[in-house]
Amino acid sequence: MKPLTLPPRLLMGPGPINCYPRVLQAMSHQLVGQYDPAMTGCMNEVMSLYRDVFDTQNQHTVLVDGTSRAGIEAVLVSCIEPGDKVLVPIFGRFGHLLCEIAERAGADVHSIEVPWGEVFEPEQIEAAIKQVRPKVLAVVQGDTSTTMLQPLEHLGEICRRYDVLFYSDATASIGGNPFHTDDWGLDAVSVGLQKCLGGPSGSAPITLSEHYVDLVRTRHHIEAGIREDSHQAARGSRIRSNYFDIPMILDYWGESRLNHHTEAASMLFCARECAINLLEEGIEASIKRHKTAGDAMLAGIQAMDLMPFGNLSHKMNNVVGVEIPDCVDGEAIRQQLLLDFNIEIGTSFGPLKGRIWRIGTMGYNARQDAVLHTLQSLETVLRRAGHKMALGEGVDAALGVYASAGASYE
Ligand SMILES: *Cc1c(COP(=O)(O)O)cnc(C)c1O
Repeated sequence: MKPLTLPPRLLMGPGPINCYPRVLQAMSHQLVGQYDPAMTGCMNEVMSLYRDVFDTQNQHTVLVDGTSRAGIEAVLVSCIEPGDKVLVPIFGRFGHLLCEIAERAGADVHSIEVPWGEVFEPEQIEAAIKQVRPKVLAVVQGDTSTTMLQPLEHLGEICRRYDVLFYSDATASIGGNPFHTDDWGLDAVSVGLQKCLGGPSGSAPITLSEHYVDLVRTRHHIEAGIREDSHQAARGSRIRSNYFDIPMILDYWGESRLNHHTEAASMLFCARECAINLLEEGIEASIKRHKTAGDAMLAGIQAMDLMPFGNLSHKMNNVVGVEIPDCVDGEAIRQQLLLDFNIEIGTSFGPLKGRIWRIGTMGYNARQDAVLHTLQSLETVLRRAGHKMALGEGVDAALGVYASAGASYE
């Protein structure tokens, strides 16, 4: 077998994207033992770093090993007891995923929907809460399937009034769009690394309020074999997943350092680097960089006589949906971009399958040169496929956005 060699792709889809070089380097550190002070010290640093990423004071801010949906599953399976009502506002594919995971945890799931390309008004969610009286409201912030960003800032207050736990999946949006765990009154948030944080998939940072943790600790059952005689099993029912049992995960990350899984050390180093990278740039600066790159891509697309998808006033900064013109074969265009130009853009699914491409500008790739290369290459491929447009306008429009943003980002 030959050594692995991969083509040097530029990943401009809805994630994963190319990693920051420093993040790749962080994953190549030699391992230390699970309870080595160097390891537990690193775990504590990660907790502190992600408090800043999530903009929270929550003590309970840790990693769940696994891709983003591991974080979703841990949060939901630990707080849902069979029969509990969960409300999910669905505005894209990942809302359906929240329903699916909550259903498997035994919840009585209620959902409300808006057409793909739209978001909810807080009044719509409040009306559903009044009607359903759920234990948990689970809502995606940025749904890459539709490129929409659901405003969350008014929902925490509503949840408090009706005594509802407020959970959000902010995987696709954190780092590229504003997010404020405490100010917005969230009880639980989960994310992943492979979008604006610029890492690979495989670690799911989560943050949990005291209220959430108190609730799941009523289901604290330590597994036999590591349990000490002094442990009193909690009164609540045992959480249905061992791997995603948050009270046991917190025992491992907390002072008792009670063994649960073996922390995925290389992903821990990687998650640490993603957070440091973001915080060194500054969250505000990172959001601005994503906004500028996203605006430049959008302006370029529009200047190429292509139609963006969805309600643009609620578009995420870091991804745009593009209606595939009737005269071209969407998959053939993607194929040529990939094979001739080494650029990947995204396809889509559900009701949008075959209707839109999705082009991301996130993390390491929220850069002027990446935006310009993508627009220029797309123009060439579309021109050869017969799409009519004024040549050169896409790149010029993007350059115009960068000029008026007053900065060119390396
Ligand atoms: C991309 C994305 C995920 C990814 O989940 P994985 O398990 O890492 O594949 C989850 N949620 C949202 C909202 C996303 O956009």
